[in-house]
Amino acid sequence: MEVTEVIATNVVVECPNCKQRLSGFYGDPRGHQFTCEFCTQVFSIHSEADIEMR
Ligand SMILES: [Zn+2]
Repeated sequence: MEVTEVIATNVVVECPNCKQRLSGFYGDPRGHQFTCEFCTQVFSIHSEADIEMR
C-alpha cells in the first residue's frame, strides 16, 4: 500500500520584519493577515506561499 497524503499539523511562519518564528496557526494561514507577537508588525501571507519541509 502507498499513502498519497501527508498531514501537516505544525505550521510555522517567519516574521518578515524581526525573523522570529510564529507558531500556533490553526488551519492554512495563507492568504491571511497576522500581527507578529514579538514586534507587533502586521504582515500578510501570500495565498500561494510555498510550504517548505524542514
Ligand atoms: Zn516580528
